[in-house]
Amino acid sequence: MNQSYKSVTDFIRDLYQEDGVIPLHEPKFIGNERLYLSTCLDSTYVSSIGKYVDKFERMIAEFTGAKYAVCTVNGTAALHTALRLVGVERDDEVITQPLSFVATCNAITYCGASPVFIDVDIDTLGMSPDSLLEFLSKRTVRTSNGCININSGKRISAVVPMHTFGHPCRIAEIAIICENFGLSLVEDAAESLGSTYQLKHTGLYSKVAALSFNGNKIITTGGGGMVITNDKDIAIRAKHITTTAKLDHPYEFFHNEIGYNYRLPNINAALGCAQVEVLPRLLDSKRFIAKKYAEFFEDTDFVFISEPKNSISNYWLNALILENRKQRDDFLNSLITSGIMVRPIWRLMNKLPMFKEFECCDLKNASWLEDRVVNLPSSAII
Ligand SMILES: *Cc1c(COP(=O)(O)O)cnc(C)c1O
Repeated sequence: MNQSYKSVTDFIRDLYQEDGVIPLHEPKFIGNERLYLSTCLDSTYVSSIGKYVDKFERMIAEFTGAKYAVCTVNGTAALHTALRLVGVERDDEVITQPLSFVATCNAITYCGASPVFIDVDIDTLGMSPDSLLEFLSKRTVRTSNGCININSGKRISAVVPMHTFGHPCRIAEIAIICENFGLSLVEDAAESLGSTYQLKHTGLYSKVAALSFNGNKIITTGGGGMVITNDKDIAIRAKHITTTAKLDHPYEFFHNEIGYNYRLPNINAALGCAQVEVLPRLLDSKRFIAKKYAEFFEDTDFVFISEPKNSISNYWLNALILENRKQRDDFLNSLITSGIMVRPIWRLMNKLPMFKEFECCDLKNASWLEDRVVNLPSSAII
């Protein structure tokens, strides 16, 4: 093996004190998980209602500082709900970043809208406010019907940035631009629970945001998500449409619009309550691991991605920038062969078959990163 890859392998084995396979990210059940799960089973309330759902919502609201939090069955459902609630309609366009997990774009298309792709910043890996401003100033007009894309004639209704690997993007600047152009902002905060920008939790720069608790995220409910907001009406609407839009009544079934069965089962919420309790410990460990990586890579030709300016990252997935695509592939092959589960950043969304016809701006930073970024093992060490 190439000598420098060998030293990375040795470093990671030493960090994790593990001779076998080292996963990219595994969940840690180190608190009350078993207790809450068995209490939930004993109560028989394992499904769509129960006290853990309410408790989990309160805990996430308190942790993030959001006034309201509403559970959903997964993060994609939370994003879909958030987009619906800010008024994304069929045939609208939604501006987003091409460098993201596929769920972001999927949720946009579930609304019948199409994504428009703008570039990211190299240091944050997230949406670039400069690209956003350039696109909006040069390629849109303001009309009584909203902000219209000159090229397609369609209404742009929302902007969806994503906090990649937990690193906050320049969200305050993005929020101001959206405000000036009359656009709704929805943060995809699926990866950034515990990350703040200028000391405010990610997700709270937008009227409504989505979190995910999938198995690979910083905390997990098996599968699950959450809508967070400071807006009471949005919170009430979120609960309503994610629970089949049923009106409260002692026995009648009356649903007043088409809703979704996006409820998080109580048993998943029970797991979530235990996970939020240990989240501060997980975050401490993540920060420790990131510091170790940063120190190690300082003396190498590889560039470790550290938290951006003005922000505190949860360091959900640690990431490295390699020299070019060839070195990236050699690195991935070499480490995976020796049992270290590294992986490349996602293929850009505008290159996937279902999204390739949608409008793109100059994506030079996103393309550059796509060729070079890899994720390193990042499980908390507890
Ligand atoms: C994980 C994730 C989601 C939501 O995923 P679910 O698996 O549906 O919970 C959305 N966006 C991004 C960027 C993600 O990483």
